[in-house]
This record gives sequence, structure tokens and C-alpha cells, in this order.
Amino acid sequence: MKLLENYIQTYGEAINKDVLKVDAFINHQIDPKLMMELAKDIQNHFQNKTITKIVTIETSGIAPSLFLGYLLNVPVVYLKKNPSKITTDECYQTLVHSFTKNKDYTVTCSKKYLHQDDKVLFIDDFMANGEACIGAIKIIEEAQAELCGIAIIIEKAFQSGRKKVEELGYSVYSLARIQSLDNGKITFISE
Ligand code: 5GP
Repeated sequence: MKLLENYIQTYGEAINKDVLKVDAFINHQIDPKLMMELAKDIQNHFQNKTITKIVTIETSGIAPSLFLGYLLNVPVVYLKKNPSKITTDECYQTLVHSFTKNKDYTVTCSKKYLHQDDKVLFIDDFMANGEACIGAIKIIEEAQAELCGIAIIIEKAFQSGRKKVEELGYSVYSLARIQSLDNGKITFISE
């Protein structure tokens, strides 16, 4: 998506060869107009699917998900990163390794908000090695919901996430695909 690539090129910072900082419009300050354009793009891409629920992971997946939820008129469920105080049999849980913090954390989802009859679109801000996405897949599969699509705002295509998710039988739709962050220069895989 050209608009997103322009934002990344203008406001993004390659802080090293592996990590892109987009605090100016996604991860700290949020640009609502951009969020709406991202949501419209995702809506357009998945227009042939019947989506009944959007699932994302807190925190940065929530903003684009909310705009899409509004457009599709479906609820948005975010997987929580903090251990739940309610008993584990009331929620789905899985362990995820954080790429940016280099530690494991538990993601949880109340069984009240994810059901067998849900047709889910999963959204996240970044894909690196696919851990967050695979954690979400595990929870969605455990709930026996149908995972209809995966939309990633920024995929770092030089990392292993897409391959791992595809090996599980799911395809990945990314709005921007980063080819490299080497030497502080951001390059994209063209559409
Ligand atoms: P993965 O689970 O695919 O290895 O990493 C994806 C998660 O790590 C995303 O939810 C995102 O929060 C974080 N992440 C991975 N790479 C980056 C990055 O380059 N920049 C930022 N801001 N977050 C990242």
C-alpha cells in the first residue's frame, strides 16, 4: 500500500537492521486517518469473506482493528498480554515469545468472546518471526473458530514469520512488506 510505504519512509526509523520504529503513527502516537485507510484496504482485500469477528493482540493491533470493526460492523476482540486473574478454564491461553522484548509472555482470551461459530480475521501491527500470529492461531483453533484471514500492517519479509504461518496452512496479507532495514535504509518489496 503506497500510502503506508510513504508514512514508513517519511516517519519510520530503522533503529537497527532488525527493528523498525513507527511510534510517530502506530505504536505511540496514532494517526486516525491512516488507520481508516488501512482498514479500508483490509476490508477491500477480504471483501469476499464473511467476517464475524476481528481478533488482534494488545496494544498496537487495536487501533486499525477498531476502524475495520466499525466498517464491517463486527466486534473486535484483543488478546490480553497480562496474566488473567480469572481461572484458566474460563479463558484460552498460550505462550508467545516477544520479538522486541526477547521474553515469553502469556496471551489470553476469555471463552465468552471467541466461539465455534466465529469467522475470524486476525490483525497485527508487525510480523517478524510470526510468534504473535502463531499464538493467536493457536487460540483461535482452540476455540474451534474459523480463521478466515490474517492481515499484517507491516511485515518484515526478511524474517521468518510468513514462512512459518504458511507452513501452518494460512496465507498472510501484508499492507507493507519490508525487504531490508540495513544501514538505516528502509526498502520495500514492491507490490
Ligand atoms: P513476531 O511475533 O512476528 O516475531 O513479532 C511481532 C510482534 O513483535 C508484533 O506484535 C510487534 O508488537 C512486535 N514487533 C516485531 N518487530 C517489530 C518492529 O520492527 N518494530 C516494532 N515496533 N514492533 C515489532
